[in-house]
Amino acid sequence: MRKRIIAGNWKMFKTMAEASSFVEEVQSQIPVSEKVEAVVCTPSLYLSELVKMTEGSALGVGAQTMHEAKEGAFTGEVSPHMLADLGVGYVILGHSERRQYFNETDASVNKKVHAAFEYNLVPLVCVGESLEQRENGQTVEIVSEQVEKAFAGISPELAAKAVIAYEPIWAIGTGKTATAEDANEVCGAIRETVRSLYGEETANGIRIQYGGSVKPDNIAELLSMTHIDGALVGGASLEPQSFLALVEAGANE
Ligand code: PGA
Repeated sequence: MRKRIIAGNWKMFKTMAEASSFVEEVQSQIPVSEKVEAVVCTPSLYLSELVKMTEGSALGVGAQTMHEAKEGAFTGEVSPHMLADLGVGYVILGHSERRQYFNETDASVNKKVHAAFEYNLVPLVCVGESLEQRENGQTVEIVSEQVEKAFAGISPELAAKAVIAYEPIWAIGTGKTATAEDANEVCGAIRETVRSLYGEETANGIRIQYGGSVKPDNIAELLSMTHIDGALVGGASLEPQSFLALVEAGANE
């Protein structure tokens, strides 16, 4: 059984005070379950404090991006070495907003996936098609290619530890969710790509999330699908009770 993973992506929201009050409230009520892992991916500024606050708790803390180098003259960037040093456990890589606004490419995402594993960070690798690509029937081709390129040179043992987030770009922040069937079909195609790259064991082990307008009232149906092992959630992860409802759904059958 794959353990579900519900990850909040706060993007560029919240002050430090709001971040710590969120974590306090969520930690005191979070369901502890073998079935689900819960993570909040916060602005880098808050990671140090939030890692300390969540020590020994069921809530994990992740970054939303990082540079691939250990250190260097890269003004404004945060390195995998720094994240690992703080005790951060996860990092979102290749989010479509990073690809769109910050010029991340399949090649740079691949470098970051290598770097994440080097520092024992669990990468949440985002893939997804645009509306135009979907309408042209290119969805599976696009996401498969993104997966192949992101994992180039990664061993099967490491790949099995990664999380892939399927996030159709047209569903992010728009209120438009892919139907559970459509999302499952693409997540199944992603698993098939992993199978062709790495074989059965890695394909069965790797966790695939759906992301794009996931909310407490649509998550149960998404999680009931065979290939969907969790969710990467933006807007609905910002309020403690909404985030808790998502994690509770992950802890259910
Ligand atoms: P959304 O964002 O849940 O607000 O659509 C998802 C994401 O960008 O990861």
